[in-house]
Parts: sequence; C-alpha cells; structure tokens
Amino acid sequence: MPEGHSVHRIALQFARHFVGHEIAVSSPQGRFEVGAAELDGRTMTDARASGKQLFLEFSSDRWLRVHLGMYGAWDFVIEDSLASIGAPRRLRIAESERLGNAIEHFPPEPVGQVRVRLLTTTAVADLRGPTACEVLSPAEVDSVIAALGPDPQLDPSPEAEQRFVSAVLKKQTPIGLLLMDQSVIGGIGNVYRAELLFRAQLNPHTPGKVVPAEVLRAIWRDWAHLLADGVSTGQMLTMTNLDDEALARAIANRDDRHWVYHRAGVPCRVCGTPIVMEIAASRKLYYCQFCQQ
Ligand SMILES: [Zn+2]
Repeated sequence: MPEGHSVHRIALQFARHFVGHEIAVSSPQGRFEVGAAELDGRTMTDARASGKQLFLEFSSDRWLRVHLGMYGAWDFVIEDSLASIGAPRRLRIAESERLGNAIEHFPPEPVGQVRVRLLTTTAVADLRGPTACEVLSPAEVDSVIAALGPDPQLDPSPEAEQRFVSAVLKKQTPIGLLLMDQSVIGGIGNVYRAELLFRAQLNPHTPGKVVPAEVLRAIWRDWAHLLADGVSTGQMLTMTNLDDEALARAIANRDDRHWVYHRAGVPCRVCGTPIVMEIAASRKLYYCQFCQQ
C-alpha cells in the first residue's frame, strides 16, 4: 500500500504535466466508461492529495477521486520517459526505468486492466487496480476531505495539528492503531507508523487518551517533516544524523533506512534489544520494548 508521500508525488506529476491541459479521458478496460465520458475533453485545473487519496479537478466543477488501496498503481509516460508510482514493486521498476527506457510510440498501447487513461499531447497516465475511482462534485469532494484526518502536507496549520491532537485524546484505542486510522491523521502507513513511534519513544499499545498532548504535537510535526522529506526524495528514509557512509547505505538499501521497521529479531540500533514484531489490526507492527516504554 503506498504511503502518503507517494500519493503527494503522484499529485505533483499531475500538477507538472497535466494541469492546464485539455485531457482525453478513456477507460480502456471499460469499467469506468461513464465517468470517463463525463470528464473527456475537459481541462485539468488542479491536482492535490489528502492522506492516501488523490483529487484531480477538471473544468466546470468536476473532480476525479482515486484511492489506490493495496494494489492500485499509476503509470506515467511523459514524452519518452517512463515513470510509475504506486505499488512498491512498480515504484522500484520506475526508479530504474526512469533512467532512460525509451518507448517507441506515443501514446503507448494500454497494457493490462487500465481503469482510466488520462492523455495530453505529451503525457499519459494509466490507472490500474484502484479501490476507488469516481467523479465527484465540489461539494462531494469537500465532504470526503472533511471526513479525512488532517494531512500536514495539504494543511500545515495549527488548527490541523489541533484536530489531530483532539482526535487522539478522545480515544482509548492504542496510538499504534490511531496513527494508521485515516480519519485521525492522513497518509501514515505501516513503515511511517513504526518509525514515528520509535522516534517518539512511545509504546504502540499506549491508549490515545493517555499520550501527553506535547508528545502528540511532536509526532504531528515529525510526520510533517518526514512526509515533506519523502515527497521530495521519493524514499522513506526515517533515520536521522547519518554519517556519509550510513547515508549511502540507506539510499542504496531499504534495510538500512529504518530504526525498527522490518527488523524483527534484529538488535535495536540504539539499545541492542531484539526488535519485536506483532500483528496489530492484521498489519505487522515493529517496536523496541526497551526504547519505547
Ligand atoms: Zn531500543
């Protein structure tokens, strides 16, 4: 499942290459024919993300809302460079292919089950396997975004921070689950959840209502920082103060990027205690029982 930084990066691709252009919209697979016909020929006027959802605005008050879910992915072909952001495997393919895998014809033939294709004279975006893909009115977009937890990349205001803090303090639910609850805070997935809790030295089982407000404010600001970094680099690099050698290792290898994520049974980088892995809400949760009390 893509985490928030990927969805913001997809919004940036649309902002760079599609906003301001008239878009030919189609559904090669056929499952989005009605929506595609409604959007076809309109100009894209805005592209933004909130949490894990993407919102593309078209002329005359029409929006396309997309949630990739576990398996969805966007593929972009911009002129002759190929870039894909979405499911992790595709992201890796994209990062290498972006270095110079040319395509012979533009636009390329749709490959596989393409739910929607957005096409300009120089750019094409193909969407496969989303959990949500629908046309909305501005009022409907407002109500979807209002029901989502705040996303510091979209809204870094003190009010957004306060919404997050208040939502957590109302709940008995463990903080480790609340951080993944998209109605509490936007965009955090399994990797960022584990790493934010380690960085806050907070036990994932702590009930939301007993976490000190200043710790929640620090988590919000840390998330804003990590998210902005992920949006600009495309990587979830969650360890800080790395020397040059450690930084090079981290950029080259996912296993050298994180404090606790995906490190079950491996000694904690700080205290040496083996990292614990538990299943929480059917997702793997990693933490250090010594550092996070
Ligand atoms: Zn530790």
